[in-house]
Amino acid sequence: MGKQFSGFLSQNARCQHCNEPLGRYDAGLLTALLVGLVIVLVFAGAFLVIELAGGTSPLYYLVILLPISVAASLLVMRPCKGGLIGLLWALRANDRLER
Ligand SMILES: [Zn+2]
Repeated sequence: MGKQFSGFLSQNARCQHCNEPLGRYDAGLLTALLVGLVIVLVFAGAFLVIELAGGTSPLYYLVILLPISVAASLLVMRPCKGGLIGLLWALRANDRLER
């Protein structure tokens, strides 16, 4: 398997292994939308559970929950983008009009 990304999120134009033109599949904004949605759902759920269990100081959310949510979104960003590019590839949903 070839590498899909050259930097943290920058896509290689072609697969280094099979020369598939993966640069055609642009998952940029869809990645941000999906990651944002998942992280908000998970951390709003955590916030709700904590509040329903009695709640803590607002500082707790700022010091613990906020950095964890940022780290979690950075962690899931690459796998999400890779998966979305794979999905777009499987659906042949690229920016060229060839069916
Ligand atoms: Zn390949």
